[in-house]
Amino acid sequence: MSPDDPVASRPDGDWLALCRRAGEAVAVALERYPTRAERERPTGRGEGGDVALVIDRAAEDAVFAELEALGRPMTVISEERGHVALGGGGPVHVVVDPIDGSLNAKRGLPFHCVSIAVACGPTMGDVEVGYVLDLATGEEWWAERGAGAHLDGNRLAKPDPAPLEILAIESAHPANVAAAADALAATGAARLRALGSIALSLCSVAAGRADAMVSLRAARSVDAAAAQLVVREAACSVAFPDHGRDPLTTPLALDMRSRVVAATTPVALEDLVRGVAT
Ligand SMILES: [Mg+2]
Repeated sequence: MSPDDPVASRPDGDWLALCRRAGEAVAVALERYPTRAERERPTGRGEGGDVALVIDRAAEDAVFAELEALGRPMTVISEERGHVALGGGGPVHVVVDPIDGSLNAKRGLPFHCVSIAVACGPTMGDVEVGYVLDLATGEEWWAERGAGAHLDGNRLAKPDPAPLEILAIESAHPANVAAAADALAATGAARLRALGSIALSLCSVAAGRADAMVSLRAARSVDAAAAQLVVREAACSVAFPDHGRDPLTTPLALDMRSRVVAATTPVALEDLVRGVAT
């Protein structure tokens, strides 16, 4: 089959199994570095722009070993290595954040995960499978386009619309929080939570654990590619307001930069984008 063949380019059911193998491999890799001193050894700057810790590299190596073992052509977009053509590349895009929440992982805090999205093209709307494994709790979040979002095998129901009790914020550098303080107060949220993982904050909205989330600084595609499908398949709403009106056209490329916003209803999403992310 030619790489231009739409059937060849459409990921099939094996991709979720691949994501699970890769997630397990990352969990095993992380166990090799149990202490903070072992985990925080820097290895230079990754292609995504952040300083890569030894655990980021080890986790990424574990994912690539699984991807390479599959022996299929694909374009991998990964936080540390950047864009990599396996088997000649092609329309299947696999977007990897080996550890989202590296700082938490380094410091022994929960809320760190591996995030893998498999897409039949180069945009968020092309994502067919989104997989997020919480490396602290072992919770497994996944979604398949058109087949719903799941947590540990149970399909997520759309969260009931509720007042904004918990608003999760990401990229919570004190300067970002200070700049957004008035806007955050104006949302009427009862409490803020800064979990430290964009992917898991998005999944929290999908499950109704948080009522909404907003990143206070531009995020990258690798942070959100998998979990944005979990949000959408749970019938919640997501936006990349620095890219444009339609979240589905947001590129998966590593140079994409946009804040990400999610809420349980389109109206709540619009309010947050207007109030906090414009
Ligand atoms: Mg990372």
